[in-house]
Amino acid sequence: LHVQATPLTGKEDSRIGVLIVLHDLTRLRRLESVRRDFVANVSHELKTPITAIRGAVETLLDDESTDVASQRFLQIIFKQSERLNALVEDLLNLSRIEQGVETGGWELSCEPLLPILHSARAACESLLSQQQVGLDIICPEQLKNRVNAPLLEQAIINLLTNAIKYSEAGSHVLIEVIELDEFVKIRVEDSGCGIAAEHLPRLFERFYRADLARSRSLGGTGLGLAIVKHVAHAHQGEITVSSEVGKGSCFTLLLPRRQKPEVV
Ligand code: ADP
Repeated sequence: LHVQATPLTGKEDSRIGVLIVLHDLTRLRRLESVRRDFVANVSHELKTPITAIRGAVETLLDDESTDVASQRFLQIIFKQSERLNALVEDLLNLSRIEQGVETGGWELSCEPLLPILHSARAACESLLSQQQVGLDIICPEQLKNRVNAPLLEQAIINLLTNAIKYSEAGSHVLIEVIELDEFVKIRVEDSGCGIAAEHLPRLFERFYRADLARSRSLGGTGLGLAIVKHVAHAHQGEITVSSEVGKGSCFTLLLPRRQKPEVV
């Protein structure tokens, strides 16, 4: 049940009542859950044939009797099956995270943040050298917060992957962690191509892409930021973005320092 209350004021700001609107979300929630289960089941079913295709193609590519022309087509099939596999993995990840948020199933514990950032950096090492982009990390060494470490690492990898992908060779990406009273702020900043203002409100939707041609050529599933949004929600936190075309982008993950009281 979603409850919305608005005070009603009369002359000279005198309070004359309260308007209470109750929204019954049962049907909506049920539909959401059917959609999530459907996507998760389809993704799961797709995994087996994709694995079989990749296995067969790898065997043919390793076979010395395969001629050069066939090798070329096999490389294409292999690359596309890798893309499909990444998409299915991201769809499964997204459903799993969404479901956890819905049922309150994500356990948070007090963890140091720096090792999580270092392991996210390790996961992006090959992309960093391939794109010739540098990465700086600024984080107080002893800083701890309530997190689910694997989930947070996944979100940071997604933000870093984008920051690196959309940057020019020779530039630097920065992850900065700032300790505030109520929040820990994790900023991932790049000086890459930036995002036009009209795209910002929809950026965290599944499959939304700001620059279709560029995003397609750079690869990716279009689900990275949707995953980040759900990871933020699993921490009762938020994700925001500010960006300027041609100057760069900054994604900010706000994680509460203490557990927020449950909203009924
Ligand atoms: P993708 O797999 O396409 O990168 P995401 O959900 O991670 O999908 O990102 C959605 C879109 O947001 C991207 O296609 C891209 O247009 C834009 N985007 C995300 N991060 C950045 C960034 N750091 N710089 C520029 N554009 C970005």
